Amino acid sequence: MNDDRYSRQTLFAPIGSEGQARIRAARVLITGCGGLGAEVASLLARAGAGALRIVDRDVVELTNLQRQALFDEADARECIPKAVAAARRLSRINADVNVEPLVTDVHAGNVAELLTGMDLVVDGFDNFEGRFLLNDACVSAGVPWVHGACVGSYGVSTLIVPGRTPCFRCIQPELPPPGSTPTCDTVGILGPTAHLIASLEVAQALRWLVTGEVPAPPVLVAADVWDLRLQRVELPARDPRCPCCGERRFEFLEAPASPATELCGRDAVLVRSLARAAPAFDELAQRLRAHGEVLVNRYVLRFRTAPYELTLFPDGRTIVKGTSETALARSLVSRYFGA
Ligand SMILES: [Zn+2]
Repeated sequence: MNDDRYSRQTLFAPIGSEGQARIRAARVLITGCGGLGAEVASLLARAGAGALRIVDRDVVELTNLQRQALFDEADARECIPKAVAAARRLSRINADVNVEPLVTDVHAGNVAELLTGMDLVVDGFDNFEGRFLLNDACVSAGVPWVHGACVGSYGVSTLIVPGRTPCFRCIQPELPPPGSTPTCDTVGILGPTAHLIASLEVAQALRWLVTGEVPAPPVLVAADVWDLRLQRVELPARDPRCPCCGERRFEFLEAPASPATELCGRDAVLVRSLARAAPAFDELAQRLRAHGEVLVNRYVLRFRTAPYELTLFPDGRTIVKGTSETALARSLVSRYFGA
């Protein structure tokens, strides 16, 4: 009996040692390291993927721990960015995997660079904007991606291979208006839902990496963990009039990033700085202590002044909690951080 760490995976006939070598050679981008992304990262690292690039814009919070098994209370207490906390933990799970943590949001200005050198992307986003942008970038660059989304007890997943399967916009032609769809921050999310959908994403990722095959016809899998329903939905063929994969108009990739974005259902706003870097944390922390409570580490500066909480990242972004008004959030950032 073969005793190497992947033996139970290589014994599975469709993978074998050849399939394991393909998994080992794979470079995978994970966009978002929350309920889906953290579990995707854990499963891919354990499966022996060669390299994982993990991009996430936020820090670990206590409310994440109900479902995000890569993180613990110390990460939340110390305000550690999720990508950094994930990389630390993954290095203890499988030291052979090259993990690259990136603390930033995915936007039209950096998505092409994030995709560079990647064989596959796995969706860990919690919002539609990110997925429409990722779809444009992946179709434009010809990089396959595995879509996954979940809320409450329900979730879906599908493999998207440009030119071979329908793209995300063939399935969902237009971006739903902000606030029109339920999110984990408005109607909740069960741990089992996130873990099941992440597992379905990773199963499709491994199958693609090993076989290079797409299901014919293409399928989307839908699951409800409360009603115990699992559905295989056959998808129609690619839509030749799809603006993205049919007409190759990349509207989301070409749209300029807005200076501030409401984070739906979270009573929070993401403010992007015009400067490419944040001011020096130590100086700023000293100045702010007169006005409120300050926590600073090498990754973030968090400033609380009731009822607001501002978290500043080294790339110049701030997440402002306590308001959903973008204009107010921008004025708080400029008042306290002088951006
Ligand atoms: Zn399409």
